[in-house]
Amino acid sequence: MRNISIWEKNTEKRTYPSLSENINAEIAVIGAGLAGILTARRLKESGCDVVVIEKDNLGSSQTKNTTAKITLQHGLFYNDLIKDIGEEHARLYAEANMRAIEMYEKMIKNENIDCDFEKENAYLYSVISDEKIREEYNAAYSLGIPCEITSETSLPFKTVSALRFPNQAQFHPLKFLYAAANGLKIYEHSKVLSVDGCGIKANDLINSSADETYDRHLPRKSELIVKSEHGTFTVLADKVVFACHYPFINIPGYYFIRMHQERSYVLALANVVSENGIYLSGANKDAKYEGMYYCADEDKFSFRRAGSLMLFGGGSHRTGDASDNKYEMLRTAARQYFPQSEETACWSAQDCITGDYIPFIGTYSSDTPNWYVESGFKKWGMTSSMVASSIIDDLINGRENPYIEVFSPQRHNLSGDLKEMLSDGYNAVKGLSKSAADVLTGNKDEDSALTSGEPLRCRHLGCKLAYNPGEDSYDCPCHGSRFTKDGRLIDGPAQEHLT
Ligand SMILES: Cc1cc2nc3c(=O)[nH]c(=O)nc-3n(C[C@H](O)[C@H](O)[C@H](O)COP(=O)(O)OP(=O)(O)OC[C@H]3O[C@@H](n4cnc5c(N)ncnc54)[C@H](O)[C@@H]3O)c2cc1C
Repeated sequence: MRNISIWEKNTEKRTYPSLSENINAEIAVIGAGLAGILTARRLKESGCDVVVIEKDNLGSSQTKNTTAKITLQHGLFYNDLIKDIGEEHARLYAEANMRAIEMYEKMIKNENIDCDFEKENAYLYSVISDEKIREEYNAAYSLGIPCEITSETSLPFKTVSALRFPNQAQFHPLKFLYAAANGLKIYEHSKVLSVDGCGIKANDLINSSADETYDRHLPRKSELIVKSEHGTFTVLADKVVFACHYPFINIPGYYFIRMHQERSYVLALANVVSENGIYLSGANKDAKYEGMYYCADEDKFSFRRAGSLMLFGGGSHRTGDASDNKYEMLRTAARQYFPQSEETACWSAQDCITGDYIPFIGTYSSDTPNWYVESGFKKWGMTSSMVASSIIDDLINGRENPYIEVFSPQRHNLSGDLKEMLSDGYNAVKGLSKSAADVLTGNKDEDSALTSGEPLRCRHLGCKLAYNPGEDSYDCPCHGSRFTKDGRLIDGPAQEHLT
C-alpha cells in the first residue's frame, strides 16, 4: 500500500502554471500550503498585489497529510503556557486561536465552501492522571476558554479523565485549500532558490554617501531567484512572506537553532463506524461516536472520524529519531482498540516545534523589515495558519493587531522551556559536519554530501542522516529534512536532492 492520505486520495489535483518570465509583485508569498494560501488571500482582500510561488503543487506538503482538526485544544498546554509567558499573553494566545475557528466558520459559510466542515467537541484525555487534566482545566478556565471535565467519551477504552472543549471543528483540508486558493496568482513547480535584498543590501550600504542616512525601513525590492519548469527567473517583490513550513534562509533569522521537527503517523480505519458515526462493533456497538481526541499521556494517540473512517494517529517522535517502524506500532494498537477494523490508508507528516511551543509569526529578523515568516505550528497549523494570515496582513498593511507581540519571532521568552530551547540548539548543531560553516556562509561544497561515501549527510547543513524504517527514508535529526533512499528530497529545510 502506497502511503497516501485520504484527502489526497479522494481529491482531484488542481494545477497552476509554472513561472515562465521575470515578474514584479508587491508581495511574494513562498509556499502554497494552508499558511501561504490563507495569507495570500487576506493580503489580496486588503488590496495588495500578491503572487504565491510553490516548489511543488498546491497543498502538496504537510497540508495534505494533516488530520485537520480546527481547535484551540493544543494538547497539555495552557497550564505551562501561563507559567511561561504569564496569564495576559496566554489569554491572547487562546483568543487568537478562538477567533481563528470563528474565521473558518464564517468564511466557509459566507462562501459556501464544500469542505466537509463539521462542528465537533475536542477532548484532551488521560488514562493515567486525573491531576494533569484538572490542572489544564483550571488553566484553560482562568483564560476564559469554555471547557469542562468529563468522564464520558466515545473512546473504545476507559479514560481516567477528559477535558471537553465544545464548538471546535474539523474539515477536509484539501477541499478547503482549493476553494481558498480561488482567484490567487499561483505558480507551481517554481522553487525559490534564494532571496536577496532584504531591506539592507551590501551594495546599498557601500554606495551610500557619508551625508546620506540609510533608512533600512525604506521599502527595497527583494530579489527571488526561482527555478521553474521553463528555466530560471527573477521575482522582484517589495515584501516577501516565508510560508514554506521551515524558513530555509539560515542567516538572518537563525531558525535552524530555534526549532526542531517532529513527525507523526496516521491510519485510516474502515469497519469501525458507519457513515453517520455509529459504532459497528465492540463494547460501544450501536453507540454514536462523537469528538476529536488527543492524549495527554506519554503515548499520544489521537482519534477523529472522517465519514465512515476512523483516523487513528500517534507515534510522534523527533524527525531523524525513529529506530522502530511507527506504522507497525500504530497497527498493533489499532488491532487492540478496533479488532474488526480494516486499514484503508496510512500516511505521516511533520511539523516545526519552537522552544516555547508558540509559533513564529511576524518579521523574519530585525535586519529584514520586509521579510515575514510563519512557522513553528507544533502540529496545530489549522488555527495557527489562520492566526498567521491575519497577523501578517495587519503587519504589512500597518494595522494594529493585539496578537503581534505574543507570536513575534523576535520575542525573548526566557521563562519558557529553557531545557527545550537548549536541547534544540544542542541537537541543531551536534550532527553538523565540518563543512557546516561553509554551507552557512554560502561556500557550499557541491560534492561533499554523497560522493565522500557513508554516512549520508544532509544538503542543508551537512548533518548525518538517520534511517527511518517506517518510511524507508533518510531523515535529518538536527533540522528535519528528509530524503528517499535514492536521494530525492522529501521535506525541507534542505532545498536540494542528495544526488
Ligand atoms: C500527523 C500530523 C497531524 C496533524 N494534524 C493537525 C490537526 O489535526 N490540526 C492542526 O491544526 N494541525 C495539524 N497538524 C499540523 C498541520 O498539518 C501543519 O501545521 C500545516 O499543515 C502546515 O501548513 P504550512 O502551510 O505551514 O506548511 P506546508 O503545507 O508544508 O506548506 C509549505 C509549502 O511551501 C513549499 N515550499 C517549501 N520550500 C519552498 C521553496 N524553496 N520554494 C517554493 N515553495 C517552497 C512546500 O512545497 C509546501 O507546499 C498535523 C501535523 C502532523 C504532522
